[in-house]
Amino acid sequence: MPELPEVEIARRNLARWFKGHRVVRAEADATRVFRGAELAHFARLTGRVEALERKGKYLLLTLEGGRGLMAHLGMTGKFVRRAQGEVVPYSRARFHLDDGFVIHFCDPRLFGRMEPVPSGGLWELASVKALGRDPLTEGLTGPQLQEAVGDSKQDLKVALMDQGRVAGLGNIHAAEALFRAGVHPARKPASLTPPEWQRLAEGVHAAFDFAFKEQEGEDIVYLEEPGSVNRFLVYGRAEGPCSRCGTTVESFTQGGRTTHFCPKCQPLPKGPARPGKPPKRPSRVVDGAKPRSRRR
Ligand SMILES: [Zn+2]
Repeated sequence: MPELPEVEIARRNLARWFKGHRVVRAEADATRVFRGAELAHFARLTGRVEALERKGKYLLLTLEGGRGLMAHLGMTGKFVRRAQGEVVPYSRARFHLDDGFVIHFCDPRLFGRMEPVPSGGLWELASVKALGRDPLTEGLTGPQLQEAVGDSKQDLKVALMDQGRVAGLGNIHAAEALFRAGVHPARKPASLTPPEWQRLAEGVHAAFDFAFKEQEGEDIVYLEEPGSVNRFLVYGRAEGPCSRCGTTVESFTQGGRTTHFCPKCQPLPKGPARPGKPPKRPSRVVDGAKPRSRRR
């Protein structure tokens, strides 16, 4: 499922494909991807692409004249470039370029979303304005992460995935960042120490860097698709050995999603995390943890 790195890879590909070319025709099929938005507005997205921006998991395309498009890849959405005339499975919208190529938005499961914006205002969309800090474009230090997430009462991993706090982290990269930082996903944000926030911020950047290194290219394959290989350190590895220490990776359901973690590398603190504070051991997770195999 695409998160910040996968959306950023899409942005870089689109920027390269559109560079020096014009969209001569834009067309879209009437699918759920548009959520009722006017398809006629999509058909007007022609000419030169003047800006290709990203915030969190949102792509923001601006064409000449200020006409814009917000695109969210959802669970299975992706942009691919193919030669004119090529049949492309699950193509939902297309940009025909003057170089003979067609850029398709493909989405088998239709959880992606597109919203054409007639004249400017992409950054004023409520869904975009509601986003929190983007770790890539706005930076993310330990103190900045603590400021964004520290006052949440939710479990740490659930709070990290709150797009209004940090934009772009999802189930995979939140788990990877926590593993890299050696922090248990069920900790409460208030229990983290400054060094832990620092390690976690570094973990986010390291997880993203790893994703870029492993996945950057024109035809990304998501983990859920046939032929993909799981190269992540902890995500999707429940009941297998930890890539660092060999301990069996465990999983439990958290905020409706499956969380993967290593109980040895990411222990729950036994005592108070900070002197004078009560223990933050979240008993409901210990008691209610139901190991599940590879459900995402
Ligand atoms: Zn381990």
